[in-house]
Formats: sequence, C-alpha cells, structure tokens
Amino acid sequence: MTGWAARAAELYDGRHRRMLIDGEWRDAASGEVIEARDPADGRLLATIPKGGAADIDAAVTAARRAFEGPWSRFTPFERQALLLRIAERVEAEWQDLCLSDTLDMGMPIQRSLANSRRVLGMLRFYAGQAVAIHGHTIANSFPGEIVSMTVREPLGVVGAIIPWNAPIAGSVWKIAPALATGCTVVLKPSEEASLTVLRLARIMQECGLPDGVLNVVTGLGADAGAALAAHPGIDRIAFTGSTETGRAIARAAGGNIKRVSLELGGKSPVILCRDADLDRAIPVAAMAVFANSGQICIAGSRLFVAREIEDEVLSHLADHARGLRLGHGIDPEVDLGPLISARQAARVESYLQRGQDEGARLLTGGARVTPEGLAGHFIQPTIFAGVSDDMTIAREEIFGPVLSVLPFDDPEDALRRANATPYGLAAGVFTRDLGTAHKLAQRLRAGTVWVNMYHAIDPAVPFGGVRMSGHGREGGTEHLDEFLDTKAIWINTD
Ligand code: NAD
Repeated sequence: MTGWAARAAELYDGRHRRMLIDGEWRDAASGEVIEARDPADGRLLATIPKGGAADIDAAVTAARRAFEGPWSRFTPFERQALLLRIAERVEAEWQDLCLSDTLDMGMPIQRSLANSRRVLGMLRFYAGQAVAIHGHTIANSFPGEIVSMTVREPLGVVGAIIPWNAPIAGSVWKIAPALATGCTVVLKPSEEASLTVLRLARIMQECGLPDGVLNVVTGLGADAGAALAAHPGIDRIAFTGSTETGRAIARAAGGNIKRVSLELGGKSPVILCRDADLDRAIPVAAMAVFANSGQICIAGSRLFVAREIEDEVLSHLADHARGLRLGHGIDPEVDLGPLISARQAARVESYLQRGQDEGARLLTGGARVTPEGLAGHFIQPTIFAGVSDDMTIAREEIFGPVLSVLPFDDPEDALRRANATPYGLAAGVFTRDLGTAHKLAQRLRAGTVWVNMYHAIDPAVPFGGVRMSGHGREGGTEHLDEFLDTKAIWINTD
C-alpha cells in the first residue's frame, strides 16, 4: 500500500460526519443521511447529513445573529489575523485536504496538491484586503459646509452554493472574501463532494471563527440548495454550478430581491493559429480539456485549428491523449481520475454516441474503461475530428474528457465561430504573432482570455463569465464589491 493509500484508509473509514450550524456539529433535522462514496472504486467513505429547509433556516438564523453580534465587533485587523491563522492551518493540513478531495471526487492527487499556491493565496490575498476596504470623501455641489462621504459596509448573510469539481478552491473562493468584508456565510456544498468542505470548516472553527460566522449545511440541491436560494434572510447568493441550476437560483432569489452572482458553465474555444509553437501548444491545448477528466468549467472543449496544420496537430494531440494514464487519483502517476458519478458518465457517453451519430470522426478514445481493480466511472480521453459548428458536441457543455477539433481558414473565421456560442467563460489563443494575439484577445467574448497558456487562475486576478456563463467576478479586488454595500453619509458642519 502506498503512503497515500494508507493515509486514505485512515482518513475516511465509513464513519458518519456532521454538519456545522451555529458552532455545533449537527445531524439533519430529519435524521436522514447521504452516502459519500469514492467515485474511483465505490468505497463508502462516510455518511453525511441530508440537510433540508429546517437546517437551512437554523443556519441562516445563526449567521444573522453572528453578523449582528460578535462578528460585527471584529475589527478589520482582527479579521485579517484570523484569515492568516486559517491560512497557516490549511497549509499545515494541505496534504490531508487534497487527499480528501481526491477520495471524495476523484481529482488526481498531483493536481490537487498543485492548487496550494492558489488556495493559500486566496486566504492570504483576502486577509490583506480586509484592512484595505475604504470609502471616499466626495466634493459635492451644495453651498456651505456640507461634507459628503461614503463608507463600505458588509452586505450581511451570504448563501454560497458550490459544485463538486473543486471543493477546496471552490469553497475558499466564496468564504475568504466574505469573511474579509465582515459578512457571515451559509455554505451548501455539493451532495457529491462535501467531505473536504466539512474538514475545512472544522479548521476554521478551531482557528477561532465565532459560532455562526460560517455554517455548512450538507444536502441535496433540490432541498437544501433551493431553500437557501429562496430564504428571505439571505442578502446575497454566490452560486457556482451549471447554467440550468443558475437559472433556477436567479428565479428563487427574486423573492426578496436578493443579489445574485452566478459562475456557470462554458463551451470554451481555443484557437490554434498556423504560426503557433506546436511543441508548447499541443500539451497545453490537450490538458485544457482533459484536466480533471474534463470536469472543469473552463474546459477548452472546442479546439479551432488552422487548416494548414490540422493533420499534424491531430496526430500529436492523439498521441498525447493516448499517453494519459487513467486510474485512482491517489496514485501520483495518474493523469486522469474517474468522473464523479454513474449519472455523469452516462451523460458523457451519450455525447460520445451523439458525436458519432452526427458524423464526427472519432480520432481516439470514445469508450468507458475499467482500470485494473477499479469499479468507478472512467472514460477515455476522447478526440473528435471533422466536427462542424452545428453538431451537439460542439455546442453543449459535456463536462467530460471530450475534445472537438474544428478546422478554420483564417483567424477572422475562427473568431466569429468561437464567439458563436451562448456561453462566454474563457478562451485560449496560441500564436507567435503579437498583433493576432492582441486582436483575438480583445475580440473574443469571454471573461478570461489566455494567450500561449491556459488554466491560469490567481487570487489577485478577477475571474468570471459573460452571457450564459454568468455574471459577477471572483478573485481580485472586484470580488469584494459583491460582499459590500456603499453607504453615503452627509454632514452639515455649519
Ligand atoms: P449543479 O448546478 O448541478 O450543482 C451545483 C450546486 O447547486 C450543488 O451544490 C447542487 O446541490 C446545487 N443545486 C442543484 N439544484 C439546485 C437548486 N434547484 N437550487 C439551489 N441549489 C441547487 O452543477 P454540478 O453538476 O455540481 O457542477 C457542474 C457545473 O458547474 C458545470 O456546468 C460547470 O461548468 C459549472 N462550474 C462553473 C464554474 C465557474 O466558475 N464558472 C466552476 C465550476 C463548475
């Protein structure tokens, strides 16, 4: 047994875990539970509470009490110190947190370990921002001695809902800026991957976060998630997940006109120009879609390739895909882990069939596989060539390791087709020509454009979508605005 496997057996042994409400570790009011299973081999890791509307209500009440009570008396400097303390503990327990993600949702351990810069960076970046929040003194048009100024105030209680594909990063990216601004949080992790979030909540509690400042309610989207989105005691919903669920959340949030930020799905284009450095571009373009087995919102799932270099690119891409090793994520040699669930694997398989039925050419992959001894849901990295823009695989988010390659004749043609999607989360460009790079980066309709790279996400740089990929930005100082209100104060000093 490798070191990771031994630690994995210790970490989760099928025991029950509780959720955090008002500083207490509780079961669901209904007493019901959900099983957390390792998607690579089906092993029962733990059971977790199946929270519902009553638990959400208790959590929102606790979060409101904390917001108006003890948390409001923390100075920005105290919030900063607390976030820095949490960062220290997260760093000390980083390997266990990563292993937890690998077991609960399949991300290869090498990939989760590599996220440390980003996650620790988020905690430390927002710790810094906690003491930098400020308003302005503004000259006004009134005669006499009238002073006008603004102050920034925390919005209140934030309801955060996250998907399963990056639990540590996804939860820290909601929690850290909310705490930095002085908000309190009720977080609903995905029913498919809650274990790491519970572990993280325990760390935060042990670091001295007052009761009720962070509450984690585990449960199903249709119960706990829907109750959170509709709850009148929530001031903002910060949601990451599918576009379909985002729509339901926007509707539910209308009840008390709560603010909503939506980080949704995508069908991100990557444009590989004739003059690209192929040795560098091909591995990056391949992993733009295959990383995390394609279960990434920014997956570069449409690769536009200049027709002159199409054959060469297809041959190298296929070699790269065939060289990827599938298996249990705790094996440090593994490149791709399982898909999260049987349902997700069946969904991806239906796209593999659709691609072939609609006339795309299957270059490599295209099937479910069973790595030795693993009963999980693995799908080969798959490349379709000869894809046209109207095919289903070129239009819909698959959330699996499936790449559509689409040839183009000139960069204008690629640009027009890349933008012909209702989504707009991210895009990539590979070229050695500065003019082409700049022009495409300006005109691609996406929240992020990477040139000669992909996947870079940083605590200090805003990230988010346009159009049906959502709105709002996470990361950077822009993110703080989502948790702050601006109050105008007028003083007549005459
Ligand atoms: P999902 O929308 O099914 O679920 C996301 C979360 O919403 C889960 O916690 C779920 O329980 C909850 N939920 C489901 N129905 C709900 C409802 N009616 N009301 C309230 N909450 C509800 O998404 P998923 O399958 O977990 O994740 C995959 C999707 O997330 C993909 O579309 C992907 O592109 C997107 N995603 C986007 C980003 C981003 O930053 N833009 C990042 C990661 C994932």
